[in-house]
Amino acid sequence: ASGSGAFDRRRCSGVVVVETTGNPDVEVSLVVPMYNEGEGCLEFLATVDALLASCAASHEIICINDGSSDDTLAKLKIARVSRPNVKIVNLSRNFGKEAALTAGLDLARGRAVIPIDADFQDPPELIDTMLRRWREGAQVVLARRTDRSADTMLKRTTSAGFYKAFGRLTRLDMTPDVGDFRLMDRVVVEALKQLPERSRFMKGLFAWVGFRQVTIDYVRATRRAGTTSFNYFKLWQFALDGFFSFSSLPLKIWSYFGFGISALAAVYMLFLIVRTIVEGGDTPGYASLMCVILFSNGIILISLGVIGEYLARVFTEVKRRPLYLVNEMEGFETPEIARSD
Ligand code: UDP
Ligand code: MG
Repeated sequence: ASGSGAFDRRRCSGVVVVETTGNPDVEVSLVVPMYNEGEGCLEFLATVDALLASCAASHEIICINDGSSDDTLAKLKIARVSRPNVKIVNLSRNFGKEAALTAGLDLARGRAVIPIDADFQDPPELIDTMLRRWREGAQVVLARRTDRSADTMLKRTTSAGFYKAFGRLTRLDMTPDVGDFRLMDRVVVEALKQLPERSRFMKGLFAWVGFRQVTIDYVRATRRAGTTSFNYFKLWQFALDGFFSFSSLPLKIWSYFGFGISALAAVYMLFLIVRTIVEGGDTPGYASLMCVILFSNGIILISLGVIGEYLARVFTEVKRRPLYLVNEMEGFETPEIARSD
């Protein structure tokens, strides 16, 4: 393993994950983050294992148990008995989907890597098509949801608004309606692993690295088992993460606002001075005073909040904590993973 920064961030107290680059023996790695997926994970693993056996030369299925509070881990261990391609990474607690995905990408060795949800919302049948497009020369195969009727009206409009605003603010070309479900060539995965930031807005990072992309369409189904772990507040935080990690415009815009308001205030001040000189002092205007105070205080609070958002992100980056901690792993060969003492 090299001593690069990309490697350092994966060093954790219990288990040291030594750099895992590609292994030509593995054609496809499936990366599956799992949080409380005990109900449906056996069926899911059976489906994808059979499917990959038919359309890939060789494969591995990396399951990241993201601190589930149900029997997901036990179910994974059961699955491993009959399916040696299933590998288990058990994180020390719930780190969130983005961190779980990062763990999976770090450990995947395939020449092609596909992150996929465990709830059948990313249709496994698409993997065959993805692999074909990849073998034809694409480095990234995006899966785009054409029909989102499974989602609520509110979720669809908010998500459309997000993509529009994100594109305008960051000038990054993020294909709308594309989730984490995609195929990435080894070179793309290695590029992603070079990105050192702690706040992992994966969609944005995926878009940032670029490479030769093709898009295929599919219809998103509803969850087959279990419940979604994303509510609107989480999604809002997620969107904020996207904006503040990829754009500094919100930080800059307030100086223009400040200029504008100061200019207006200066004009008004001049007017007041002239009027006082000409007409003499009259009773002070309580209403106008209140308006100015409230408005300017509002602006100040908003701009402080924006600075706070960036400061919080800078703070998490500066702490340089690992993105995730691995508690135990099963199915990985020892030369690549070594226990530290
Ligand atoms: N997930 C995870 N950690 C979390 C939340 C979710 O690993 O903290 C996994 C989950 O098990 C699933 C995928 O991320 O495989 C997508 O989650 P979910 O279906 O809840 O999200 P949605 O489809 O509603 O966006
Ligand atoms: Mg889902």
